[in-house]
Amino acid sequence: MDFELSKEQHDIVQAAREFALGEFPDRALEFDREETFDYAIWKKACELGFVGMNIREEYGGAGLGLLEVCLVMEEFWAVDAGIGGAILTTSFGADLIDMFGTEEQKIKYLTPLPVGKGITAGAITEPDAGCDVSMASTTAVKEKDEYLINGTKMFISNGDVADYILVFCQTEPKHSDKHKRHSWIVVESDRKGFEANKLRGKLGIRAHDTAELTFTNVRVPTSNLLGEEGNGFSELMAFFNKTRIPIAAQGVGIARAALEEAVKYTTKRHQFGQPLSSFQGIQFKLAEMATKIRAARNLVYEAAWKADHGVMDPVLISMAKWFSGKIAVKCADEALQMHGGYGYLDEYKVQRIYRDAKIVEIYEGTKEIEKNIIARNLLS
Ligand SMILES: Cc1cc2nc3c(=O)[nH]c(=O)nc-3n(C[C@H](O)[C@H](O)[C@H](O)COP(=O)(O)OP(=O)(O)OC[C@H]3O[C@@H](n4cnc5c(N)ncnc54)[C@H](O)[C@@H]3O)c2cc1C
Repeated sequence: MDFELSKEQHDIVQAAREFALGEFPDRALEFDREETFDYAIWKKACELGFVGMNIREEYGGAGLGLLEVCLVMEEFWAVDAGIGGAILTTSFGADLIDMFGTEEQKIKYLTPLPVGKGITAGAITEPDAGCDVSMASTTAVKEKDEYLINGTKMFISNGDVADYILVFCQTEPKHSDKHKRHSWIVVESDRKGFEANKLRGKLGIRAHDTAELTFTNVRVPTSNLLGEEGNGFSELMAFFNKTRIPIAAQGVGIARAALEEAVKYTTKRHQFGQPLSSFQGIQFKLAEMATKIRAARNLVYEAAWKADHGVMDPVLISMAKWFSGKIAVKCADEALQMHGGYGYLDEYKVQRIYRDAKIVEIYEGTKEIEKNIIARNLLS
């Protein structure tokens, strides 16, 4: 067992850190307050190879593994979650295309992503179907050589800026098995009947675009079916196994940011004639944060390493995702507490960290769903 990163992986970490520190801090507060993002930063990230890193070389990516994606994710989220998230989710869905797309679809939909010529979105959640994705009711009815799509999707990352959206639709609503009713259909955002409404007022990751999507008699050719008709649910579960690992790395990154802010602030701020960091009560908290972050990172690395070696371990992945979300929220809370009243102001990065961290416990499987997966395995 080797716990050391390779020289190439160290270089990736260094490059990601330098890029994030060079580009994010000056704009982070503005994007957070305005709920906006400057896609010129995404273009630069593409030029440096940070987008679609694990897309295979034949489709223009770097062909790197999930571990490398996690390394970059941690560095980006340690500097700013909103900007880091906005950049790295622009290729959300690439794994689904890679796993289930035809050769033609891979060339068409994957090749624009690493070069900054396309943005994807993955639309699963609906107003009445969140954790229970099997209830997704957007329909895709086959009419000759077209699908006719109707429905609403909620909370879709990049929904407002995506060039094409991978939509989880019911194609066989009458199937007796609710896990055999869905399929994935690619919808180009310039199709008639498609509408995206940007959602405002999010608690955190406010630079990251999120939208409600409506599909009103949207027509796409049947060649836009991705994967096997009726097999969308199990394709989604396989996709989540891949996407949840980098989400867990987001938790590690933001928890690390919280610790870094806490160390910086408590060594500078004096009360009772000494730095806050000289109090044992503060030191114990810092020590606990550092230990939890390391434990979460080890879970992430193990899950990513196994996935890169062809072993998908959904229980380990859920553990990594649940635990990193938990420690992200906890570390952010402790770090803000150590800032006292100043932490309550958005001029202090720790306030944003506190708000941004929560998302790790919500999207791509809430913390309860992750624990359901872990417990189900224990009890089966
Ligand atoms: C910023 C943001 C970005 C997002 N991006 C995307 C995206 O790109 N694509 C996409 O499809 N979706 C996206 N989502 C949606 C996200 O995945 C859902 O919000 C999440 O899956 C939960 O669904 P819900 O909000 O409908 O909550 P619900 O399913 O209504 O759950 C509410 C609460 O009940 C709990 N609960 C539900 N069922 C159980 C159970 N069986 N046992 C115990 N507790 C349970 C949940 O854990 C949660 O705490 C995004 C959400 C946000 C906020």
